[in-house]
Amino acid sequence: MKELELLYEGSSKQIYKTDCDDHVVVRFKDHTSAFYNIKRAIIEHKGRLTCEISSMVLEYLNSQNINTHFVERVGADGQLCRVVEHIPVEVIVRNVVAGSMAKRLGLDEGIIPQNTIFDLCLRRSDLGDPLINDHHAVALGLLSYEELAKMYEMSASINKCLIELYDKVGITVVDFKIEFGRTSDGTLVLADELSPDTCRLWDKATGERMDKDRFRRDLGRVRETYEEVAERLHNVLK
Ligand code: UDP
Repeated sequence: MKELELLYEGSSKQIYKTDCDDHVVVRFKDHTSAFYNIKRAIIEHKGRLTCEISSMVLEYLNSQNINTHFVERVGADGQLCRVVEHIPVEVIVRNVVAGSMAKRLGLDEGIIPQNTIFDLCLRRSDLGDPLINDHHAVALGLLSYEELAKMYEMSASINKCLIELYDKVGITVVDFKIEFGRTSDGTLVLADELSPDTCRLWDKATGERMDKDRFRRDLGRVRETYEEVAERLHNVLK
Protein backbone atom coordinates (compact mmCIF):
# COMPACT_ATOMS: atom_id res chain seq x y z
CA MET A 1 0.00 0.00 0.00
CA LYS A 2 1.48 3.31 -1.10
CA GLU A 3 0.60 6.54 0.71
CA LEU A 4 -0.11 9.35 -1.80
CA GLU A 5 -1.22 12.98 -1.58
CA LEU A 6 -2.99 14.74 1.28
CA LEU A 7 -6.77 14.73 0.70
CA TYR A 8 -7.96 16.59 3.79
CA GLU A 9 -6.55 18.23 6.89
CA GLY A 10 -8.64 18.85 10.01
CA SER A 11 -7.73 20.18 13.43
CA SER A 12 -6.37 16.86 14.72
CA LYS A 13 -5.99 14.59 11.67
CA GLN A 14 -4.76 14.38 8.10
CA ILE A 15 -6.23 12.01 5.51
CA TYR A 16 -3.98 10.71 2.72
CA LYS A 17 -4.99 9.01 -0.50
CA THR A 18 -3.45 5.59 -1.17
CA ASP A 19 -2.89 3.60 -4.36
CA CYS A 20 -5.92 1.53 -3.38
CA ASP A 21 -9.22 3.37 -4.02
CA ASP A 22 -11.08 1.97 -1.05
CA HIS A 23 -8.43 2.73 1.59
CA VAL A 24 -6.97 5.90 3.07
CA VAL A 25 -4.26 6.60 5.63
CA VAL A 26 -5.38 8.67 8.62
CA ARG A 27 -2.54 10.48 10.41
CA PHE A 28 -3.01 11.78 13.96
CA LYS A 29 -1.56 15.22 14.73
CA ASP A 30 -0.07 16.60 17.94
CA HIS A 31 -2.49 19.55 17.72
CA THR A 32 -5.31 19.67 20.20
CA SER A 33 -8.23 22.05 20.61
CA ALA A 34 -11.24 22.50 22.84
CA PHE A 35 -14.32 24.70 23.10
CA TYR A 36 -14.59 24.96 19.30
CA ASN A 37 -10.99 26.02 18.78
CA ILE A 38 -10.94 28.72 21.48
CA LYS A 39 -8.29 26.76 23.38
CA ARG A 40 -5.48 25.29 21.30
CA ALA A 41 -2.12 23.67 21.89
CA ILE A 42 0.43 21.28 20.50
CA ILE A 43 1.14 18.35 22.82
CA GLU A 44 4.32 16.57 21.87
CA HIS A 45 3.73 12.88 20.96
CA LYS A 46 -0.07 13.19 21.29
CA GLY A 47 -0.55 12.06 17.65
CA ARG A 48 1.49 8.92 18.24
CA LEU A 49 -0.23 8.20 21.57
CA THR A 50 -3.83 8.70 20.38
CA CYS A 51 -2.99 6.64 17.28
CA GLU A 52 -1.50 3.87 19.41
CA ILE A 53 -4.42 3.78 21.87
CA SER A 54 -7.06 4.02 19.15
CA SER A 55 -5.34 1.30 17.09
CA MET A 56 -5.27 -1.08 20.07
CA VAL A 57 -8.92 -0.38 20.89
CA LEU A 58 -10.21 -0.65 17.29
CA GLU A 59 -8.22 -3.83 16.70
CA TYR A 60 -9.83 -5.22 19.85
CA LEU A 61 -13.31 -4.21 18.61
CA ASN A 62 -12.61 -5.86 15.22
CA SER A 63 -11.64 -9.03 17.08
CA GLN A 64 -14.99 -8.88 18.92
CA ASN A 65 -16.85 -8.84 15.56
CA ILE A 66 -17.70 -5.16 15.67
CA ASN A 67 -17.31 -3.61 12.21
CA THR A 68 -14.88 -0.70 12.17
CA HIS A 69 -13.04 1.21 9.44
CA PHE A 70 -9.66 0.27 10.98
CA VAL A 71 -7.39 -2.09 9.03
CA GLU A 72 -3.91 -1.67 10.55
CA ARG A 73 -1.49 0.79 12.07
CA VAL A 74 0.87 2.49 9.61
CA GLY A 75 3.99 3.87 11.27
CA ALA A 76 3.83 5.64 14.61
CA ASP A 77 0.98 8.05 13.96
CA GLY A 78 -1.03 6.52 11.10
CA GLN A 79 -3.83 4.07 10.48
CA LEU A 80 -4.86 2.36 7.27
CA CYS A 81 -8.65 2.70 7.14
CA ARG A 82 -11.42 1.65 4.80
CA VAL A 83 -13.03 4.51 2.88
CA VAL A 84 -16.57 5.11 4.09
CA GLU A 85 -19.38 7.53 3.42
CA HIS A 86 -19.33 9.48 6.65
CA ILE A 87 -22.68 10.02 8.43
CA PRO A 88 -22.68 13.54 9.93
CA VAL A 89 -23.93 12.63 13.40
CA GLU A 90 -22.16 11.87 16.67
CA VAL A 91 -23.35 9.30 19.18
CA ILE A 92 -22.32 10.09 22.74
CA VAL A 93 -22.53 7.11 25.08
CA ARG A 94 -22.68 7.92 28.78
CA ASN A 95 -22.18 5.54 31.71
CA VAL A 96 -21.49 8.27 34.28
CA VAL A 97 -22.80 11.85 34.32
CA ALA A 98 -20.10 14.34 33.27
CA GLY A 99 -19.34 17.23 30.95
CA SER A 100 -22.13 18.78 28.92
CA MET A 101 -24.79 16.46 30.36
CA ALA A 102 -23.97 17.54 33.92
CA LYS A 103 -24.10 21.19 32.84
CA ARG A 104 -27.26 20.93 30.73
CA LEU A 105 -29.28 19.07 33.38
CA GLY A 106 -27.76 20.69 36.49
CA LEU A 107 -26.40 17.37 37.77
CA ASP A 108 -23.19 16.63 39.68
CA GLU A 109 -20.44 14.91 37.72
CA GLY A 110 -19.96 11.32 38.87
CA ILE A 111 -23.63 10.35 39.26
CA ILE A 112 -24.24 6.88 37.78
CA PRO A 113 -27.53 6.84 35.86
CA GLN A 114 -29.85 3.81 36.04
CA ASN A 115 -29.34 3.10 32.35
CA THR A 116 -26.82 3.84 29.62
CA ILE A 117 -27.54 7.14 27.90
CA PHE A 118 -27.17 7.59 24.14
CA ASP A 119 -27.13 11.20 22.93
CA LEU A 120 -27.39 11.99 19.23
CA CYS A 121 -25.76 15.19 17.95
CA LEU A 122 -25.64 16.76 14.51
CA ARG A 123 -22.07 17.28 13.30
CA ARG A 124 -22.21 21.02 12.67
CA SER A 125 -19.44 22.78 14.56
CA ASP A 126 -20.78 26.15 13.32
CA LEU A 127 -23.97 25.36 15.30
CA GLY A 128 -22.11 23.84 18.28
CA ASP A 129 -22.93 20.21 17.29
CA PRO A 130 -26.53 20.47 18.55
CA LEU A 131 -28.31 17.63 20.32
CA ILE A 132 -30.97 16.15 18.00
CA ASN A 133 -33.25 13.12 18.16
CA ASP A 134 -33.92 10.21 15.81
CA HIS A 135 -36.79 12.00 14.06
CA HIS A 136 -34.58 15.00 13.25
CA ALA A 137 -31.92 12.65 11.84
CA VAL A 138 -34.43 10.90 9.58
CA ALA A 139 -36.13 14.18 8.57
CA LEU A 140 -32.74 15.64 7.63
CA GLY A 141 -32.13 12.56 5.44
CA LEU A 142 -29.03 11.55 7.38
CA LEU A 143 -30.01 7.94 8.04
CA SER A 144 -33.06 5.67 8.22
CA TYR A 145 -34.82 4.42 11.36
CA GLU A 146 -33.38 0.95 10.59
CA GLU A 147 -29.84 2.37 10.45
CA LEU A 148 -30.44 4.31 13.67
CA ALA A 149 -31.49 1.09 15.41
CA LYS A 150 -28.34 -0.65 14.11
CA MET A 151 -26.19 2.34 15.16
CA TYR A 152 -27.52 2.24 18.75
CA GLU A 153 -27.09 -1.55 18.84
CA MET A 154 -23.46 -1.18 17.72
CA SER A 155 -22.90 1.69 20.18
CA ALA A 156 -24.14 -0.52 23.03
CA SER A 157 -21.83 -3.37 21.93
CA ILE A 158 -18.88 -0.98 21.67
CA ASN A 159 -19.68 0.33 25.15
CA LYS A 160 -19.78 -3.21 26.56
CA CYS A 161 -16.39 -4.03 24.99
CA LEU A 162 -14.81 -0.77 26.19
CA ILE A 163 -16.10 -1.23 29.75
CA GLU A 164 -14.72 -4.81 29.84
CA LEU A 165 -11.37 -3.79 28.34
CA TYR A 166 -10.80 -0.73 30.54
CA ASP A 167 -12.00 -2.60 33.64
CA LYS A 168 -8.96 -4.88 33.21
CA VAL A 169 -6.68 -1.83 33.45
CA GLY A 170 -8.43 -0.15 36.37
CA ILE A 171 -10.20 2.57 34.38
CA THR A 172 -13.88 3.60 34.34
CA VAL A 173 -15.31 4.48 30.92
CA VAL A 174 -17.36 7.56 31.84
CA ASP A 175 -18.46 8.57 28.34
CA PHE A 176 -17.27 8.65 24.75
CA LYS A 177 -18.13 10.00 21.31
CA ILE A 178 -18.31 7.89 18.16
CA GLU A 179 -19.13 8.45 14.51
CA PHE A 180 -20.20 5.98 11.87
CA GLY A 181 -19.97 5.52 8.12
CA ARG A 182 -21.26 3.26 5.36
CA THR A 183 -18.97 1.08 3.27
CA SER A 184 -19.62 0.77 -0.49
CA ASP A 185 -22.09 -2.10 0.13
CA GLY A 186 -24.02 -0.01 2.71
CA THR A 187 -22.67 -1.77 5.82
CA LEU A 188 -22.60 0.46 8.89
CA VAL A 189 -19.13 0.66 10.46
CA LEU A 190 -17.57 2.57 13.32
CA ALA A 191 -15.47 5.24 11.57
CA ASP A 192 -13.77 7.18 14.34
CA GLU A 193 -10.95 7.15 16.84
CA LEU A 194 -11.43 5.90 20.39
CA SER A 195 -8.78 7.52 22.54
CA PRO A 196 -8.50 9.78 25.61
CA ASP A 197 -9.25 12.65 23.18
CA THR A 198 -12.77 11.30 22.61
CA CYS A 199 -13.50 9.30 25.79
CA ARG A 200 -13.68 10.30 29.44
CA LEU A 201 -11.57 7.81 31.40
CA TRP A 202 -11.31 7.93 35.19
CA ASP A 203 -8.80 5.93 37.20
CA LYS A 204 -10.80 3.51 39.37
CA ALA A 205 -8.40 3.73 42.33
CA THR A 206 -7.81 7.48 42.52
CA GLY A 207 -10.61 9.03 40.45
CA GLU A 208 -7.92 10.85 38.48
CA ARG A 209 -8.97 12.02 35.01
CA MET A 210 -6.99 10.24 32.30
CA ASP A 211 -8.37 12.03 29.24
CA LYS A 212 -8.70 15.33 27.39
CA ASP A 213 -10.29 17.00 30.42
CA ARG A 214 -6.68 17.36 31.63
CA PHE A 215 -6.19 19.76 28.74
CA ARG A 216 -9.68 21.33 28.81
CA ARG A 217 -9.48 22.03 32.54
CA ASP A 218 -5.74 22.81 32.79
CA LEU A 219 -5.04 19.82 35.04
CA GLY A 220 -1.53 19.30 33.63
CA ARG A 221 0.35 16.08 32.74
CA VAL A 222 -1.68 15.52 29.56
CA ARG A 223 0.99 13.59 27.65
CA GLU A 224 2.11 11.61 30.70
CA THR A 225 -1.48 10.54 31.38
CA TYR A 226 -2.06 9.46 27.75
CA GLU A 227 1.21 7.50 28.02
CA GLU A 228 -0.11 5.76 31.13
CA VAL A 229 -3.36 4.77 29.33
CA ALA A 230 -1.33 3.41 26.37
CA GLU A 231 0.96 1.43 28.66
CA ARG A 232 -1.88 -0.09 30.69
CA LEU A 233 -3.72 -1.16 27.50
CA HIS A 234 -0.50 -2.47 25.98
CA ASN A 235 0.01 -4.72 29.03
CA VAL A 236 -3.35 -6.47 28.56
CA LEU A 237 -3.61 -6.47 24.77
CA LYS A 238 -0.15 -7.32 23.46
N1 UDP B 1 -16.59 14.43 22.62
C1 UDP B 1 -15.74 14.41 21.53
N2 UDP B 1 -15.92 15.32 20.53
C2 UDP B 1 -16.90 16.24 20.56
C3 UDP B 1 -17.77 16.27 21.68
C4 UDP B 1 -17.57 15.36 22.70
O1 UDP B 1 -14.85 13.56 21.44
O2 UDP B 1 -17.03 17.03 19.61
C5 UDP B 1 -16.42 13.45 23.70
C6 UDP B 1 -15.84 14.05 24.97
O3 UDP B 1 -14.43 13.91 25.00
C7 UDP B 1 -16.49 13.22 26.05
C8 UDP B 1 -17.84 12.83 25.45
O4 UDP B 1 -17.71 12.98 24.06
O5 UDP B 1 -15.75 12.03 26.28
C9 UDP B 1 -18.99 13.64 25.98
O6 UDP B 1 -18.70 15.00 25.80
P1 UDP B 1 -19.72 16.10 26.35
O7 UDP B 1 -20.98 16.04 25.59
O8 UDP B 1 -19.84 15.95 27.81
O9 UDP B 1 -19.07 17.45 25.93
P2 UDP B 1 -17.89 18.30 26.54
O10 UDP B 1 -17.86 18.14 28.00
O11 UDP B 1 -16.69 17.77 25.84
O12 UDP B 1 -18.28 19.67 26.11
